[in-house]
Amino acid sequence: SHYCSTEAMANPGQKVVLITGCSSGIGLRMAVMLAKDEKQRYHVIATMRDLKRKDKLVEAAGDAYGKSLSLAVLDVCTDESVKQCIDGIKNRHVDVLINNAGIGLVGPVESISIAEMKSVFETNFFGVIRMIKEVMPDMKKRKGGHIIVVSSVMGLQGVVFNDVYAASKFLLKFNVTMSMIEPGPVHTEFESKMIQDVRQKEFPGADADTVNYFKNVYLPSSVDIFETLGQTPDDIARVSPPVIEQGSSARFRNLTNPLYTPIVALKYAEETGGLSVHAFYHMLFNLGPLMHVSMKAMQYLTCGCLRSRTISPN
Ligand code: NAD
Repeated sequence: SHYCSTEAMANPGQKVVLITGCSSGIGLRMAVMLAKDEKQRYHVIATMRDLKRKDKLVEAAGDAYGKSLSLAVLDVCTDESVKQCIDGIKNRHVDVLINNAGIGLVGPVESISIAEMKSVFETNFFGVIRMIKEVMPDMKKRKGGHIIVVSSVMGLQGVVFNDVYAASKFLLKFNVTMSMIEPGPVHTEFESKMIQDVRQKEFPGADADTVNYFKNVYLPSSVDIFETLGQTPDDIARVSPPVIEQGSSARFRNLTNPLYTPIVALKYAEETGGLSVHAFYHMLFNLGPLMHVSMKAMQYLTCGCLRSRTISPN
């Protein structure tokens, strides 16, 4: 069966929270944090493509597994899988949908095949739309529901060599309460997959200069940024209970990393967008070495305590 038999029922008064992409990273930590909520406010349906990958989650969930945490199969890229999963839920009742499943893609745009780009959109964009299409009619009927998207600061500000990923992280606001959680860099498999991916790849179609900038300027900066500003999946998960509890008064945008506030400010400080684009360009291509030094200095001065600070959604 597609729906896991360990499924437990939500108690009256508990919100049913469905999360996509729970076998690792942010989704896994969110599922665990919400299932272990002290006030037991949530019944979590943690979903993943392949239940063979459930062990890390089950272990982290401990006693909550089978009580406030159920598992189900869900591939956000397949209509059939999405429908089957939602049909398997009692009365198809989902109070809170957390769209977390996502994949990254970096590299010079001319070196990436259309098929690869399509697969990013299939997951990050159409995956979210597919989920919303499936739960929205029921939410409207019940006149209640909350849709949360784990987006990215790149949905606010695109970054060079991340063209396709950034585009896949822009989304519109719908009629039911809609909130975005917008992490900066987070230490998950996402980061390691990216680095591994780049190592294995050649970049056919991109000129030597571009490949050089990408590999020797962009990537080291990007690794520095992850090291210095990277948050833990728990830092991101911690934002979810307050966002859920604020319900219809929840803020649309919830940046998790205070160090990105200046980037967002730049974007809105000047309406042509030139300022933020040039600031990024200078940061990566002219100030690369300087940034490396200042990142290291910041890391040293803050002893890592900047990492754990998150912006409260209040
Ligand atoms: P991750 O790779 O650990 O988690 C992503 C999860 O999505 C994986 O468990 C993967 O199996 C799952 N997934 C991929 N395709 C799927 C599909 N078709 N159906 C169902 N599940 C699928 O990385 P993460 O950092 O935890 O990523 C979670 C979300 O956070 C993503 O949407 C990502 O874009 C976003 N995000 C991550 C970072 C970061 O730096 N790590 C920054 C900003 C935003």
